[in-house]
Amino acid sequence: MKKDGHIHTPFCPHGTPDLFEEYIEKAIQHHFTHISFTEHAPLPILFDDTTPDKDSGMKVEQLQEYIKQLQQLKLHYKNKIHINIGLEIDYISGYEKEISNFLQIHGPQLDDAILSVHFLYYKGEYCCVDYSKEEYLRFAEKVGGIQALYDLYYATVKDSILADLGEYKPKRIGHPTLIHKFQLAHNEQINDDEQVKEILRLMKQHDYELDFNSAGLSKPFCQEPYPAYHLFDYAKSIGLRYTFGSDAHTVKDLHQYYDTIFTD
Ligand code: ZN
Ligand code: FE
Repeated sequence: MKKDGHIHTPFCPHGTPDLFEEYIEKAIQHHFTHISFTEHAPLPILFDDTTPDKDSGMKVEQLQEYIKQLQQLKLHYKNKIHINIGLEIDYISGYEKEISNFLQIHGPQLDDAILSVHFLYYKGEYCCVDYSKEEYLRFAEKVGGIQALYDLYYATVKDSILADLGEYKPKRIGHPTLIHKFQLAHNEQINDDEQVKEILRLMKQHDYELDFNSAGLSKPFCQEPYPAYHLFDYAKSIGLRYTFGSDAHTVKDLHQYYDTIFTD
């Protein structure tokens, strides 16, 4: 089995119009047996997306069309590749009830899903920490520095693992070290290995799977996967289940780092 469990789609408002078929054909060409399309789910209605274009998640009106198209493609390609219909769900502190309600309604239509932290909350403000390095550095200053920002990130990931989001809660935790995205944009030396290991153990303990995500490799201020290789080795050493995720937002991102990561 060769799987990419984290692929975005033309329904991503901050992505590219690359077609479903292009992703699928490329996946087949590279001998993937399973792929999951995991578009950013609509954010809770009462949540005010902090990104300038408010484009972090797909529009709620588009959700049924997204699922319908995937149902057709899944059938069409069923002898060539197994396509999972999925979503990437944002875990947002304080919105647990709304997220659970969403999952209760839409969860039954999904084959796969990822739970990710992109938004952090601190003193009355939410921030999308992976939006830009300027936004990341500004928010770090507000919370008391880079280390404090890392601490807040891991505390939020921990909450996401422990949150009761009902029976359709995703079983995979998305890129749990996303806070490294701008690690080369500040001059601080952060050693968060123990924090990451604790998160990985907590995932194992609560039976979640790791989204071993190659997207960070192509980010100029990150240059490592989420999590870094030595922590991925740790994850394997404790028997944590994982699924590779390209997090592709464009066809060219698909498969790009697969062979770099899985050399054997
Ligand atoms: Zn995205
Ligand atoms: Fe994500």
